[in-house]
Amino acid sequence: MNNTALSILNNTYGYPAFRGHQSAVIDHLVTGGDALLLMPTGGGKSLCYQIPALLRDGTGIIVSPLIALMQDQVSAVNQLGVRAAFLNSSLSLSEARGVEQQLRRGELDLLYIAPERLLQERTLELLDGAAIALFAIDEAHCVSQWGHDFRPEYLQLAVLAERYPGIPRLACTATADGRTQAEILDNLRLRTGRVFIGGFDRPNIQYRVVAKDEPRKQLLKFLRDEHQGDAGIVYCLARKKTEETAAFLSQHGFAAVPYHAGLDAATRRRHQERFLNEDGLIVCATIAFGMGIDKPDVRFVAHLDLPKSVEGYYQETGRAGRDGLPANAWLCYGLQDVVMLRKLVDCSDGDEMHRRRSSQQLDAMLGYCEVTACRRQRLLAHFGEILPDPCGNCDTCLWPPETYDATVVAQKVLSCVARTGQRFGAQHIIEVLRGGAAERVLRLGHDKLSTYGIGGELDPFGWRSVIRQLVAHGLLALDPEGYGGLRLTSLAGPVLRGETELRLRRDLLVKAVSSGGGGGAGRKARRASLVLASDFSDEVEPDAATTALFERLRALRLRLASEQSVPPYVIFHDKTLALMARRRPLSLEALLGISGVGQAKLEKYGEAFLVEIRAGEGGYLEE
Ligand code: ADP
Ligand code: ZN
Repeated sequence: MNNTALSILNNTYGYPAFRGHQSAVIDHLVTGGDALLLMPTGGGKSLCYQIPALLRDGTGIIVSPLIALMQDQVSAVNQLGVRAAFLNSSLSLSEARGVEQQLRRGELDLLYIAPERLLQERTLELLDGAAIALFAIDEAHCVSQWGHDFRPEYLQLAVLAERYPGIPRLACTATADGRTQAEILDNLRLRTGRVFIGGFDRPNIQYRVVAKDEPRKQLLKFLRDEHQGDAGIVYCLARKKTEETAAFLSQHGFAAVPYHAGLDAATRRRHQERFLNEDGLIVCATIAFGMGIDKPDVRFVAHLDLPKSVEGYYQETGRAGRDGLPANAWLCYGLQDVVMLRKLVDCSDGDEMHRRRSSQQLDAMLGYCEVTACRRQRLLAHFGEILPDPCGNCDTCLWPPETYDATVVAQKVLSCVARTGQRFGAQHIIEVLRGGAAERVLRLGHDKLSTYGIGGELDPFGWRSVIRQLVAHGLLALDPEGYGGLRLTSLAGPVLRGETELRLRRDLLVKAVSSGGGGGAGRKARRASLVLASDFSDEVEPDAATTALFERLRALRLRLASEQSVPPYVIFHDKTLALMARRRPLSLEALLGISGVGQAKLEKYGEAFLVEIRAGEGGYLEE
């Protein structure tokens, strides 16, 4: 058969058509070009190097920083009948020798290698003697010092340009603003390569931010209302908090485990494997967890603390919903987070440049949190992409925040900060405003100030919201020592003097007190119906028989997966099972028409799934 990119997509992967830039990138590489590919997580980057590697002579070499994931990536392509292997420190000497032999004999389509391994002279010599189809450099933003994931060994990958000049190279990343892109091109010697920027939008992810009040309870309510039985990630800033949160969720009936760099390697591996192999586990993690995790059915990513940058945040939330089905990105943040992060920035070891950069990144993140227009527009704008219309799938679109003229309440806060000497934190300022009798207020004589007791119109939560917004808008600054002390900035003057009007959002003042912020009300919680209903919006809700069949197909998949010790999704994605449950194909030919069913999988699993579907048919007749 004449192999073309499209025939491989159809027959090997079982997908009907290319998405976005895939076809252009593949053509470019097949004809020997270099490129930088920016596409969101789940956008389909891996096909962009896998298919050219299959079309060109020799083996495609994929450089990937995460050893723990290589096994799964290799299992996933092996399931498609593609010959793939990996070389990293988890292999024994004789296993590694075996893989090297396969490479020399030209028996591999794809070889995954960790960067440190690739850069060893021994490995480079091995490659010198092998036929190489292309190099793909995954997570290429790691080569940028401006970005948030810099890995020094990535810089040395520039050697590939000199040592293998005729071989096409593709750098891939899901996260890179303009500066990071320029650095990738420079540092990897890709200046003559083409840049493909896929849309950054992930329309199936719903972005939401709630004001922090009682974060754990807020999280619990969010999970109970919307994510019973779903797999998800809860990000926390501190290691200890990941453990406490996992324990808390477990107490309340959710399957949850912690993950952070302080856990021993075996525990980390076990928790990551459980996340990949079980349905519906929650991982409470620091940002040490997740890079390159390609579990497609993560239904939510929650942040219990403010992320340090929009780039990091977008990458973390991008781990949700890679299968294109509905998913939530939920962030809970408060003034205390800002105090913490300011302190981290100001006490960091880096040079002045680094501190200023971190501080700008934090400001951008705050701006995102306090935005009153469409959140997605703001996020995409950060990456240089214009979304012409509000998205309709973020909290500010779904439940537009009410804004109000906050000039007077802002003046009260600002003058209270001024009168108390610009060194106290929010709690003290609120105490003074509300006329409280705390020991410190009396001892310092702050009950004698003209701003004492002038703030009866808001409760403490309301005042905290105002102060937080004043910080986010840059009228108040936090002390660099990290005590949370507030001082005025030059922007405060015009508001204090009544020269400008200030509008703030109100919804957080009222609604968030008990409910944890707008959103979610009345939404369907069950995963199966959510997944089954999406993509079929013109059809009716799935009936009970469809839902039952879907669950049986999932159980069959889990059985097949554990027999082979591979994650369930490498057999079929939820989306493919949902299509089977909806359409109930009764022959192998009909099954092949389902997206995600290619030749190799049809041969391996077709009969087993048909048996399950047919059994269902019988069952329905009796009902
Ligand atoms: P990325 O590496 O960009 O995060 P992947 O390459 O893992 O994304 O692709 C995400 C998912 O989308 C995978 O399950 C993949 O099989 C699927 N996919 C990729 N391209 C297509 C396509 N053209 N049609 C249907 N599904 C696709
Ligand atoms: Zn929106």
